[in-house]
Parts: sequence; C-alpha cells; structure tokens
Amino acid sequence: MYITVSDAADPGSGAQQADDVRAREAIVRIRDVRRRYGQVVALDGISVEVGRGEIFGIIGRSGAGKSTLIRTINGLETVDEGSVEVAGRRISGLSESELVPVRRRIGMVFQHFNLLSAKTVFDNVALPLKLAGVGRAEIEPKVRQLLDLVGLSDKARAYPAMLSGGQKQRVGIARALAADPELLLSDEATSALDPETTLSILHLLRDINRRLGLTIVLITHEMAVIREICDRVAVLDRGRVVEHGPVWEVFARPATEVTRRLLGTLRPELPAFLAERVRPQPGPGTDALIRLEFTGKAALEPVLADLARELDVRATLVHGSIDYIAERPVATLVISVPYEGEDWLRRVNAHLAGRVAGMEVLGYVPRAL
Ligand code: ADP
Repeated sequence: MYITVSDAADPGSGAQQADDVRAREAIVRIRDVRRRYGQVVALDGISVEVGRGEIFGIIGRSGAGKSTLIRTINGLETVDEGSVEVAGRRISGLSESELVPVRRRIGMVFQHFNLLSAKTVFDNVALPLKLAGVGRAEIEPKVRQLLDLVGLSDKARAYPAMLSGGQKQRVGIARALAADPELLLSDEATSALDPETTLSILHLLRDINRRLGLTIVLITHEMAVIREICDRVAVLDRGRVVEHGPVWEVFARPATEVTRRLLGTLRPELPAFLAERVRPQPGPGTDALIRLEFTGKAALEPVLADLARELDVRATLVHGSIDYIAERPVATLVISVPYEGEDWLRRVNAHLAGRVAGMEVLGYVPRAL
C-alpha cells in the first residue's frame, strides 16, 4: 500500500488560487524601490507584486525593512528610487494633498490599534466616513454593518478603554474597512495580542478577504501568522527580498538560512532522544538522518522502494509529521540510512532530487538505533 500525501485542494480551492496568483491582475506593483535614512539603507532595491484578492505576507526580523516597505504602499513613507503603484495609480512621488483620496482607498490596521480614547466605538468607526464628507443618514447603517462584520454589534456605545485588545483590534479593522478600501494593509496587527486572540483576529482577516474579496498585505515577524492566513509570502532581510512564493512552498522548501531561522520551531523538530545523538560529521558505523519534504500529491513508498532497488539503500522511518498550509499537505519525514561515504551520499541526493520536494541531511547518528 502506498502511503500517500493526498492533495486536498480541489481545482478552484484556496490552495489552487494561491498558485494562480501570478496569473492574477497585480493590485500592488513595487519596482526596484530604495529608501535610505542617512547611512542606513532600509530598502535596497525591492520588487514585489501583490495579486488582487490575495493575502500577501511580508516577513523578516526586526529592522529588515518591513514597516518602511508597507508604508510606501500608502505613501506614509517616500521612496528615493523606484516606483510604487496601487491599482494602476502611481503612489510614489504624489504630494500630500494628492495622497488624500488615494489613502481613502487603502485601509490600514496598526499594532497598537490607534483608536481615539475619547470617542465611542461607533464614532471611531464613523470617523473616516465623516472626514470623507459622508452624510449622517448613510453613516449610521454603514457603521452598524461594519460592527456586525467584526462581531461587535453590542459595543457601539463602549469606549476603547472598556475593550479587550482583541476587541480594540476589531474596531481598528472595522474603521479600516469604513471607506470600502480596495486594499487593506496590516502592520503587525496581532503582535500585541495573546495567541488565542491572535488566531481570532487572523481568522477575521481571512473571513473578510474571502467574503469581500479584499486584498490584504500584512507584515509580521512571526511565521505562525504567515502560515495561518497568507497565500504568498516575501521574506525580507536587510532591505532585500531574499525569497518569495506560495506559503506552502516556502515552508516546505525554505531556500535561505534567514527563512529557516524564521521558521524555527514551526519546522518539526526531531524528538529529543534523537536530537541528542545527532553529530555533524559521519563516522564509522553511522547512519545518515535525512529529512524529506513532500507536498501535494506524493507517495512515500515508491520513493523508498526505488531507493532500495536502485541504490540498495535500506531506509528506516524515524520521524514524521503532516501539516496543512494554505490547505495543502506538507509532510516531513526523517529517514535513517546506513552511511557509505560522500560519493554514496551524492548518489542518494541525486536519486532523491526530483522525487521529493526537499531533502536535507540533518546529521549522523550511531547505527545502534
Ligand atoms: P522592520 O519593520 O522590519 O523592523 P523598519 O522598516 O522599521 O524595519 O526599519 C528598517 C531600517 O531602517 C532599520 O535599520 C531602522 O532602524 C531604519 N529606520 C526605519 N525608520 C527610520 C527613521 N524614521 N529614521 C531612521 N532610521 C529608520
């Protein structure tokens, strides 16, 4: 019997759509953007495109340039070189007064909510509508509808101080949606929240994305956020995009050390008893521990059977897990195989390349296992 990692994605499902994003119309086009602060190069030639309707994540360590980048999208930050376009309109180079109508089409959610403490929940959400000159008669039903959407219908008369962090962020989201934006920017919207509240806010954002078809660009330093809701991700390091692609692909095959470090504990770790015995170098009578990554439709058994038949390698399964990322199964399996020298390892490597999504030699353990 084949142990199969089945592809849960039907054509047209979320995962499929994530792959098709490159074929979508781009709503955000960032081209070769550079930004310095004195001697500090915050953005060092960034090019990114966000497809209409997707949730696009930008991740990186502190100081990587995430905030600067997301703020160039609504003109809160100017660029020294390059261009930023949203829905075909050039943002970079616009004056403050030219930016006013553009910003109305781009909602933003902030880490610290940025609510007005002297105003009620209702008035906080109504504010962008008032500023845009919308009449009272229209404001009332619109705000009610938004509060309903974010699950706060009963808090219209409350003041921010009476709300939990998660509720405050729901107000922030309702306010960001007030002017029916075509793009929502989220600047570390869940960083100040506990894990459970974080999840509920992320699910709300996903729900809004699906229900309204609203494009969301979010920045975060947490891979768990990316995994939970993003379709595609760009990894930023020192002002450059070091890696980008569909989230499930980046998780299964992180191409850079920066991404691997950000993934940290989200990558299945070896059990402690095994991790303790792993050595970086092979020795006489050691087994190589090889991590294999499978994505989508892939079968384990033929891979191991071919390995045995073609290279006479007997693999033992020692560890494994299956995760679902953007509705795609991503399986990690660790096999143990008797080590027979570097040439042999190169042959195993060449044999497995193309049969699995990713492969990595984790180290070596005494054969007694
Ligand atoms: P991140 O959001 O990934 O933490 P930022 O975009 O905030 O990164 O910062 C990128 C780099 O630019 C950092 O080195 C930061 O210190 C610097 N920087 C950001 N904003 C300013 C500013 N207003 N003045 C001077 N340096 C800044």
